[in-house]
Amino acid sequence: MKSDIEIAQESEIRHIKTIAEKLNIAEDDIEMYGKYKAKLPLKFIDENKIKKHHLVLVTAMSPTPAGEGKTTTSIGLTEGLNKIGAQTTVVLREPSLGPVFGIKGGAAGGGYAQVIPMEDINLHFTGDFSAIEKANNLLSALIDNNIHSKSKNLGIDPRTIAWKRVMDMNDRALRDITIGLGGTANGIPRQDGFNITPASEVMAILCMSENFEDLKTRLGNIYVGQTFDKQPIYARDLKAENAMAILLKDAVKPNLVQTMEGNPAIIHGGPFANIAQGTNTILATKMGLSLTDYVVTEAGFGADLGAEKFLDIKCVSGGLKPEAVVLVATIRALRHHGGASKDAYNTPDLEKVKAGFENLKKHIENIKKFGLNPVVAINAFPTDSEEEINLVQERCATLGVKAILAHGFSKGGDGMIELAEAVVEEVSSGANQFTPLYNWELPIKEKIDKIAKEIYGADGVDYTKQALKGLAQLNALGLDKLPICMAKTQKSFSDDDSLIGRPKDFRITVREFEFAAGAGFVIPILGNMMRMPGLPTTPASENMFIDNNGKISGLS
Ligand code: ADP
Ligand code: MG
Repeated sequence: MKSDIEIAQESEIRHIKTIAEKLNIAEDDIEMYGKYKAKLPLKFIDENKIKKHHLVLVTAMSPTPAGEGKTTTSIGLTEGLNKIGAQTTVVLREPSLGPVFGIKGGAAGGGYAQVIPMEDINLHFTGDFSAIEKANNLLSALIDNNIHSKSKNLGIDPRTIAWKRVMDMNDRALRDITIGLGGTANGIPRQDGFNITPASEVMAILCMSENFEDLKTRLGNIYVGQTFDKQPIYARDLKAENAMAILLKDAVKPNLVQTMEGNPAIIHGGPFANIAQGTNTILATKMGLSLTDYVVTEAGFGADLGAEKFLDIKCVSGGLKPEAVVLVATIRALRHHGGASKDAYNTPDLEKVKAGFENLKKHIENIKKFGLNPVVAINAFPTDSEEEINLVQERCATLGVKAILAHGFSKGGDGMIELAEAVVEEVSSGANQFTPLYNWELPIKEKIDKIAKEIYGADGVDYTKQALKGLAQLNALGLDKLPICMAKTQKSFSDDDSLIGRPKDFRITVREFEFAAGAGFVIPILGNMMRMPGLPTTPASENMFIDNNGKISGLS
């Protein structure tokens, strides 16, 4: 079997101006980054068209560590929709270098459902991540400069600083460091650390912003820490927001590339799906909806995390109304949730799939709570048996939901026609009327309660002493009207990795609170959240190769 990169390199790639032409954008109006990538100016965003066009969310059941194929399905579905005459753009997140060189690999789809040029998209792309890193680290430099300063010192207590430096690499040695060593000329020593760039609040902010003014306000609202008198300090107190926004002047513009079948793809922003919202920029989604009738987009992890945040945070904030949801399931994930061990993921087992269906069923029920009737896409693998597929289709039918075998990975758009037709049917029916799960105005605890009980199926929520202290701080800072961005494991509906399937009779525990005052959400922490991953013993980087012509292999 050919690798993803081999398939991508063999596929025809068109000049980016021909993709722009498809969108009725003149060559002169795009900002080209070489022949195959371009930035789209924000002037093409048109609220009237956004209202008329259709947003389709791709999410998934609780995944196995390999990922169940949301990106692959999003791209394949876009090819399928274009084949049946529905003009569609796929809108996705930008990959991070951490996973590219670590374990998971890139995020440009797979098989015959990929976006190209995949090397560029997975590597430096158009430099957005670098710009975000610089904006983040400018604030860090301003903070340490202020602590060092005699005449303009704001009295920041270095022990309270919540802002870290970032770099887009898996590098565990930078998690906790000491800075400012070396004498009086070199700053004031303090403990600091690095997060990976997708965990930067600047990333989350870029993805929530509607325009430059909004971007600057959000950057200014970043919480830095406290003074010795316990007064909050924000980035605006350091007059940081304009300079940070200047560094993002091009990063705010969505990036245009293409699918392997020559359809438009917009790839922009890439926040983490655990401590942040896990979806591409609002600007990119709006750009796609301004340019084509349909936009297919993805939210990270399973629907309990990605879709819930997409719907309750992003859609509410941006005034977006999705009209269809595709719920990706794989037979291997169903076997897993039915209790199959890792070495049996690829062995047919009807009983395990039957038991594992409970996980998918809960996700289906959850999507319906938002007023949306999902279409299940069974992302097809050669190891799926007919009986297992039939079982999933029959059980979904009893829930009033279609379950369609999706062959995007092996066949591209030709393998996604049936799914595309089902999506158009859902949209055209007009039956899907999105309503968020909760009102942002509710008290923080009530919002968390709703998510825990309705989406996770928990009996209730417990708070540690530290969490209650955090809650008091949030209320004191006036951040109680912000939406909730749950930081929870993606492996289970609960906060316990080992509870697979559809756990019952459990409670969840909020250990502590974090918040993103600029991006605009409260982050209840339900477990250990990784903000700076490490590399595995054998990193993916070891199997990569570049030849004398600059041709890359081994990138996945
Ligand atoms: P997600 O977006 O849900 O994390 P991806 O679409 O990135 O998942 O897919 C995860 C990995 O699985 C990728 O390496 C992709 O190439 C592979 N993959 C996805 N679908 C299939 C399939 N049907 N058959 C084989 N491999 C697949
Ligand atoms: Mg993905």
